[in-house]
Amino acid sequence: MTTIKKITVAGSGVLGSQIAFQSALHGYDVTIYDINGEAIEKSKKLIDTFLPRYKSDLQISSEKLEEAYQKLQFSISLQEAVSEADLLIEAIPESIGIKKEFYRNLSKIAPAKTIFTTNTSTLLPSLLMDETGRPEKFLALHFANEIWKHNTAEIMGTEKTNPEVFETLVEFAKSIGMIALPLKKEQPGYILNTLLVPLLSSGILLYAKGVADIETIDKTWMLGTGSPIGPFGILDVVGLGTVYHIFKTEAERTGNEEKMKFVNVLKNQFIDAGKLGVSSGEGFYKYPNPTFQGKGFLK
Ligand code: NAD
Repeated sequence: MTTIKKITVAGSGVLGSQIAFQSALHGYDVTIYDINGEAIEKSKKLIDTFLPRYKSDLQISSEKLEEAYQKLQFSISLQEAVSEADLLIEAIPESIGIKKEFYRNLSKIAPAKTIFTTNTSTLLPSLLMDETGRPEKFLALHFANEIWKHNTAEIMGTEKTNPEVFETLVEFAKSIGMIALPLKKEQPGYILNTLLVPLLSSGILLYAKGVADIETIDKTWMLGTGSPIGPFGILDVVGLGTVYHIFKTEAERTGNEEKMKFVNVLKNQFIDAGKLGVSSGEGFYKYPNPTFQGKGFLK
C-alpha cells in the first residue's frame, strides 16, 4: 500500500481550502495549487475564517491550529505543486470541460506514484478516468461542506480503480478524521445525495401542491423517523441560493409546473428578500432558534 505523506490540493475554493487545512491539521504536508495569486489570497482568507470554527466546534488549541497552518504551502505552478505528491485531491469547479483539461495537463507532469482523487459532486469518475492517464490510480473522494463537522468521506472508484489504491484512500480518509464511506460501485450522487435529493424534492412537491404546510411536513418526517430535522430545515442548511439553482434546473428539465411554482416562490419571497437559510439568519425558519427545535414543535 502506498504511504501517503505529501498531498497536493488542486483548487483552493470552498472545499479545497477545507480539505487542505483538515489534512494539515492531521500532520500531512500540504501544497495548495490554484490558477492565480488572487485565488490563493482568497484561499488564505477563507482558511482564516475556519480557525474560530475549529476552536468552537472541535476545541482545537490556537497552537495546534498555527502548527497546521505552517504545514500549508501555496503554489500557482501545477508542476511545482505536484512534483512530490503522493496524493492529489482535485477540488476545481464542477465543469466536465475544466476537469478534463486539468487531468490532461496533470497526467503529463505528475510523478508516476501520485494517486489522483476528485471531489466532484455530480460527475462519475469514469467520465474523467481516461484523461488521467492512470485510471488504476484514480477515484472519487467526496467530502461535505464544513468537513471538520460533517466528516463524511464517500469513496467511489471506477471499474478500473486498483482495489489497493481504494484501500489506501479509505485509510487516508480515516487518518484525517473522516468517517470513510466506501461505495462498491459508481453511483451518481454517491450515497448521501441519492438518499437526500428525493426527500427534499418530495417535501417541496408536497408544499407546492398545497398538500400541507412546511411545519406539518417537517413534523411528520421528524415524528415518523426520529430525525431531529425535516426536509425544510435541511433546505435552510443547504442554503436557499443553492436550492434555487438545483430545483430551477430540474423544473426546467422536467417541465414540472408545481416545482416551477415553488422555484418562483423561492425567488420572490425568500431570495429577493435576503432570506437565504441558516447563513442569513432566516429561510423557512428563523435562526438561531428555529421553531422546529423548540419544545412543543412535535406535540
Ligand atoms: P469553488 O468555486 O469554491 O472553488 C474552485 C476553485 O478552483 C477556485 O479557487 C478556482 O480558482 C479554482 N480553479 C478553477 N479552475 C482551476 C484549474 N483549472 N486548476 C486549478 N484550480 C482551478 O468550488 P467548490 O465549491 O470548492 O467546489 C469544488 C469541487 O468540490 C466541485 O467539484 C464541487 O462539486 C465539489 N464539492 C463542493 C461542495 C460544496 O459544498 N461547495 C461539497 C462537496 C463537493
